[in-house]
Amino acid sequence: MRYEYKGAIHLHSRYSDGSASVKEIITRAQDAALDFVMLSDHNTVAAKRDGYEGWHGNMLLLVGNEISPRTHHYLAFGIDEDLDGHDYADPHDIVDDVADRKALGIIAHPFGGKSPYLRVLPRSWHTWDIDRYDGIEIWSYMIDWTDRVTPWTLFYYYLYPERAIRGPHPEALKKWDEVSQRRRVIGIGSIDAHGKRLPIFRFIKFLPYQYLFRTIRTHILISEPLSSDVKEAQWQIYTAIRQGHCFIGYDAIGDTTGFRFHTEDGEWQMGDERVLSHPVELQIRLPQSAEIYLRHNGTVCASIRGKFLDYQAQLPGVYRIEAFLQEMPWIYSNPLFLRAES
Ligand SMILES: [Zn+2]
Ligand SMILES: [Zn+2]
Repeated sequence: MRYEYKGAIHLHSRYSDGSASVKEIITRAQDAALDFVMLSDHNTVAAKRDGYEGWHGNMLLLVGNEISPRTHHYLAFGIDEDLDGHDYADPHDIVDDVADRKALGIIAHPFGGKSPYLRVLPRSWHTWDIDRYDGIEIWSYMIDWTDRVTPWTLFYYYLYPERAIRGPHPEALKKWDEVSQRRRVIGIGSIDAHGKRLPIFRFIKFLPYQYLFRTIRTHILISEPLSSDVKEAQWQIYTAIRQGHCFIGYDAIGDTTGFRFHTEDGEWQMGDERVLSHPVELQIRLPQSAEIYLRHNGTVCASIRGKFLDYQAQLPGVYRIEAFLQEMPWIYSNPLFLRAES
C-alpha cells in the first residue's frame, strides 16, 4: 500500500520576484487541492523565518531556495539560512555546499528557454562535471510556455496556455537518460510560478498561480501517510523525491492520480536502484487509457495504447515511462535503475 500526495515545485513569492504574498499562494494552493507546495524564492528562505513553513489546513508549505547567480540556478530544499548565488565562486561550490548541508539539490531549468520576447534565461547550466546533485528539473511549465510565445502568438497562448505546451525539454531528457546510466538522478517537473505581468502589455498577468497549480504536479508515493509533525512530513517528502518515488503529472489535461510503475511483486518501484540478477516483470498502470512508452536507456523498448503495460525486463539499464494523452505530454515517471551484477 502506498499513499499518494501531489504538490507543486518551484515558485516565487514577493520575497523575491513573484507577484503574490505567501498568504495568497497558500490560498491558491488550497483552492487547487494541492497536498504540498515547495516555495523557492531567489536566494532567500525569508518565508521560513517568518513562520510560513508548515501545515495550512490540509496543505503543507515547504520553503526552499532557488540559489540564483547570473546563470546556474539551483533549487535547494531543507536549509535554514539564505544561500545567495552571488556568494559562490562557481556552480561546483553551490552543488557541494548544498550536498554538505544534506539538503535536497536540483538543477533548475538547465537548458533554459529561448524566447527573445520575454525575459527568460537562455541555456543556463553549462557545468556537467559535477556529481552531487539529486535531480534535474526536466520540465518547467513556465519555460515550455514562453518558448512558444512571440508577439504574434502571445494573445492566443495567453487565452489557451495549454496549446503552447510541448513537454520536457528534449536536451534535458537526453542528459537525464545519459547520467542516469551511471547513478541515480531524479527528474522533477516544475511550474516556476511568478504570476507576473507582461513587460509591454502590463494589463496581462501571464500564467497566474491559480492556473499553474493545476498544471504540472509532482506526485509522491510513500509507505506511511504524511505526518502532522512538520519536520517529519518535510523529511517524508524530501526523501520520496530524493529516492525518485515520484512522477510528473500534467494534471490539467487529465488527473494522473493512480499512476504506478513497479515490479510485479511490488517490491521495487520507480526511483529504486537495484541489481538485476534475474529477469523481472515491470508493471505500468494508468488511471485512464493513453499512449504508453517504456524507455530503456533512453530508447523506446515497448509501447502500447491502453491503461496497462507489462514488460519482462531481461537487460540491466534505466527504465522509465512516458505517457501521452490525446497526443499531449501527460506522465513522466522516474526510472527504475536496474544495474548489472558486478
Ligand atoms: Zn531560475
Ligand atoms: Zn525560478
